[in-house]
Amino acid sequence: MARYTGPVCRMCRVEQKKLMLKGSRCRSDKCPINKKRAAPGKDPKARPGKRSDHGLQLREKQKLKRIYGMLEKQFRLFFDRAKRMPGITGENLFALLERRLDNVVYRMRFASSRSQARQLVLHGHVCVNGKKINIPSYIVNPEDEISILEESRKLAVIREALKEYTKSGVMPWLSVDPDEVKGKFLAAPRRSDITDLGDIKEQMIIELYSK
Ligand code: SF4
Repeated sequence: MARYTGPVCRMCRVEQKKLMLKGSRCRSDKCPINKKRAAPGKDPKARPGKRSDHGLQLREKQKLKRIYGMLEKQFRLFFDRAKRMPGITGENLFALLERRLDNVVYRMRFASSRSQARQLVLHGHVCVNGKKINIPSYIVNPEDEISILEESRKLAVIREALKEYTKSGVMPWLSVDPDEVKGKFLAAPRRSDITDLGDIKEQMIIELYSK
């Protein structure tokens, strides 16, 4: 499946927002956003121009898409699915994005970034309810058990990522047993539960796709 292969930090610099795409580097002084580097191609001394409504809506969509490591076609499919579901489209969209298997692996601290989680899934290290699944966009259901194959549990990337579990734990809709490197997806979160994505305005994304 197609994926973005360009410089990752550039995406954050375009949005002028930390999208947390590179694991521990994002929390270090090496992060270009911490160094207040200007957006690519922009004169750092230039006054910020005024964006149109369409431009603002586009930026909100790009931010969310990039955080979850998705390209336009797949993100649009997720949006259309969220729209067809009963309830509020914005809430449904976040719930679906959080239920992606690569995201759940990342949230359970088995990987230090969503892209690393995606690699673990693609390389067949991850099981759902005891069955190996190698599809990063697989949608996890409440009460599903996510585990790492026994022979993969000692992988350095997983051991390193799990150190973050000791520091910060996991989101309240997950439970994790770090010794067994497995966890349970308890329920899909509400938008208000997802507190680490900043001020993404999902209403703007809905307006963009409703044109
Ligand atoms: Fe790079 Fe992470 Fe900083 Fe984004 S938040 S610019 S991915 S180091």
